[in-house]
Amino acid sequence: MHVRKIFIAGLCLLFLAVNSLAFAEDVYITQNGKKYHKADCRFIKDRETQKIDKQEAIQQGHVPCQKCYSEDLAAEKNSNVNEKTTKSKKTKNQKDG
Ligand SMILES: [Zn+2]
Repeated sequence: MHVRKIFIAGLCLLFLAVNSLAFAEDVYITQNGKKYHKADCRFIKDRETQKIDKQEAIQQGHVPCQKCYSEDLAAEKNSNVNEKTTKSKKTKNQKDG
């Protein structure tokens, strides 16, 4: 019985560890910049940067760089477009029906 409890507790800890790892993402900010960047962004190549946690960067009021986070931003836009597309499809179906 005791072994089983320890096993479950271990699983919970592992789950938490994996979760926190998935959310911990390092980003790079410049001294006066309002945006955070990925390590390989060309905007910060020749600049002095500070590596901080993404969550912390957001809390400090930083926004994602449009160059290196274009994928993230596009994904957000795409999800909106998809919603609209679904809606327009429904309208078409209604017309057809
Ligand atoms: Zn960038």
